[in-house]
Amino acid sequence: MNALKFYIQTFGCQMNENDSRLLHNLLLSSGYQAADDIEEADIIIVNTCCVRHTAENRALGFIGSLKHIKETKPETVIVVCGCMTQQNGEAEWLMKRARHVSVIIGTFAASRLPQYIAAYRANGKPVIDVAENYDNENLSNLPALAGGPDLHYGFKAQVNIIYGCNNFCSYCIVPYVRGRERSRSPQEIEEELRFLCSRGVKEVQLLGQNVNSYGKDLAEKTDFAALLRRLNGVDSLRRLRFMTSHPRDFGDDLIETIAGLDKVCHQFHLPVQSGSDRILRLMNRGYDSGYYLDLLAKIRRVFPDAVITSDLLLGFPGETEEDFQQTLDFIKEARFDAAYTFIYSRRSGTPAAEMPQQIEDGVKKERLQRLMDVQNPISLRLNQKAVGEKQEVLVEGRSKNNPAYLSGRNYGNKIIVFPAASDATVQAGDMAWVQVTGAQTWNLSGELCR
Ligand code: SF4
Repeated sequence: MNALKFYIQTFGCQMNENDSRLLHNLLLSSGYQAADDIEEADIIIVNTCCVRHTAENRALGFIGSLKHIKETKPETVIVVCGCMTQQNGEAEWLMKRARHVSVIIGTFAASRLPQYIAAYRANGKPVIDVAENYDNENLSNLPALAGGPDLHYGFKAQVNIIYGCNNFCSYCIVPYVRGRERSRSPQEIEEELRFLCSRGVKEVQLLGQNVNSYGKDLAEKTDFAALLRRLNGVDSLRRLRFMTSHPRDFGDDLIETIAGLDKVCHQFHLPVQSGSDRILRLMNRGYDSGYYLDLLAKIRRVFPDAVITSDLLLGFPGETEEDFQQTLDFIKEARFDAAYTFIYSRRSGTPAAEMPQQIEDGVKKERLQRLMDVQNPISLRLNQKAVGEKQEVLVEGRSKNNPAYLSGRNYGNKIIVFPAASDATVQAGDMAWVQVTGAQTWNLSGELCR
């Protein structure tokens, strides 16, 4: 009998992308096959996100669109998982509203996906498991090792080191749907990383909602700096990155540790969210703009080549024009290589959702545009400063826009596009030196060094 085929549709952040990769491997190791497209799938998995209203709406729209597949192929198993399902009452609401859904599992039950698919196929009864059950841990115990010897891992990989978050920023739903912090053991992380490197992976990005909190919940005394030291020792690894770091927890010891490690990229993603101290307090971020700017200065002193990016949240309840102006002034001073800008969206169950003075959508969008008008020229100028430099690039493959070009990433994770060598001596997965010859707002261009 042919193996059943599955298709995964992912919404949301890199954590979700990585969870989908782990689910993919879990299903392969359970005897299923990956489908090339949704039409040929026997099992459709929707990995949802609820961090922003738009992501949730897109996931709901996609789930709705699956109804016709279930009608034409009733044996199709439709699974909904991820953050959205873990919200209070959401699973029951969804099961009533979308009767074509077969299985709903929360963020704590993802490792049970194969058994729930089998149960549904055996008796046709919908399954819901959204219990916040820390004993039945989720994907953290499903490292990339699953999936069998033929799985292709590519040249870059992401490895979760910590799940959940204890910070309770007032706008954020993550602690409610991903639970409290749980760190994976250093041994398990190292084992996964070594395995990935043995399969050709050269660059690993460590993932967590707050990687700086790593280890606080473990019985053995360890922390994020110790983990970086340990992983830096993996011979075949070329580059190590991490995200996301909470600025409040980015201590001097961590900066000193990174300075002594040759594989850790000097790339720092430090979400600031606002340049207004009043708004930062309301957000419960645990630092003010002065602290943050001091941290940037420290990082830039130690790493003159640092690439620093940030997240900014616009239209938080009560954000006045004056608060917003402070944010504009702040980003001029901070000079981020890139800032990822988000419009605040009300997340039910969070303190900010109940705050007065919710900001109108039109005002939020206008502020977003004004912020990008300030940030984009800064990004461009910083990229222009790189022109003339020789940078080491991990080649990712042919450029999507022009197949005569290769595309790769430098140590700061910036994209560099350059003409492919006519003799094809440089290929995807190679480390290559590229002379930067041009700069745009979001990427660089260059020539291979010979
Ligand atoms: S640090 Fe704040 S914004 Fe980030 S996941 Fe935790 S609660 Fe959410």
